[in-house]
Amino acid sequence: MMKRIAVLTSGGDSPGMNAAIRAVVRTALYNGMETLGFMKGYEGLMDGDSMVLDRAAVGGIIHRGGTILRTARSDRFKTDAGVRSALVQLENRKIDALVVIGGDGSFRGAAEMAAMGVPVVGIPGTIDNDMAGTDITIGYDTALNTALSAVQKLRDTASSHDRLFIVEVMGRDSGFLALEVGISTGAEYVVVPEIPLDIKKMCDHLHYSRKRGKTHSLIILAEGVMSATELRNSLQDTGGYDARVTVLGYIQRGGSPSSLDTILASRMGCFAVESLLQGKSGVMTGSVCGRMELCPIEDAWRIKKELNPELLALVDKLGV
Ligand code: ADP
Repeated sequence: MMKRIAVLTSGGDSPGMNAAIRAVVRTALYNGMETLGFMKGYEGLMDGDSMVLDRAAVGGIIHRGGTILRTARSDRFKTDAGVRSALVQLENRKIDALVVIGGDGSFRGAAEMAAMGVPVVGIPGTIDNDMAGTDITIGYDTALNTALSAVQKLRDTASSHDRLFIVEVMGRDSGFLALEVGISTGAEYVVVPEIPLDIKKMCDHLHYSRKRGKTHSLIILAEGVMSATELRNSLQDTGGYDARVTVLGYIQRGGSPSSLDTILASRMGCFAVESLLQGKSGVMTGSVCGRMELCPIEDAWRIKKELNPELLALVDKLGV
């Protein structure tokens, strides 16, 4: 019978991680179990930096961005010695199972633990939404709305000054955030890593919109393609355009989670613990067509999540 589980957050933080921690702890309590939280991801797991998370410890955190457990990236954990120290810490504390909240990198670490016989369930938390097995990751909706409100402000000034703006958004190697920020802000052009960039085509597109009377334009660029400054220089060289550049940066990772992220995180935290109780391991929680589902944790990095072609076509149709 499971008596004690552990939870950690790892990799890049995302809004909603605290709501997920709270749901893990409260679901464990509901089922008569205790939860330990490890600080700073795998670093704290290897060093035994932990604390008991009781009901009160997760009170008043549901609406807070970031993660109360802190997070970190750890190269040490990628070594055999690192994994062994983590196992010793779990054994010493009599921990029966582990919940890892993070992105695909963190899930590789979680898979290592599962391979060593530790029951593990992953909860996908990243603003990049780049994980297969779930339609949406925790933090993505909040980041999207943060970027939306920032770009709407830029649009005001772009239109007042008849300017061309390039806004670089996050997303690592994927274009989910850029594509949906582009659609929701009515951008003229969206540049994502999944589609090869054709500068000539972009210049023709901008030229065509200008000819039709548009006085200002907005280009949303995913960080995984190139920097906004590089794109500005290319546009200058190829089409003679003088674009203003804004890099939204880490602001996209902060802030209180949206209701969508808070509910998603609560559901996934609860589902992760219930899945462990049912004997599941080496899996991640996902929201698929609105339902909670499990898939092998390896899917997070083995399967490439594709952009929705309908949304890609929408930018072309509406952004002229
Ligand atoms: P994210 O989880 O947001 O994708 P990272 O890719 O930086 O973030 O991964 C977070 C941490 O997960 C890494 O710093 C490392 O400790 C662990 N990790 C990543 N890849 C592996 C791996 N192949 N084996 C073991 N641990 C890994």
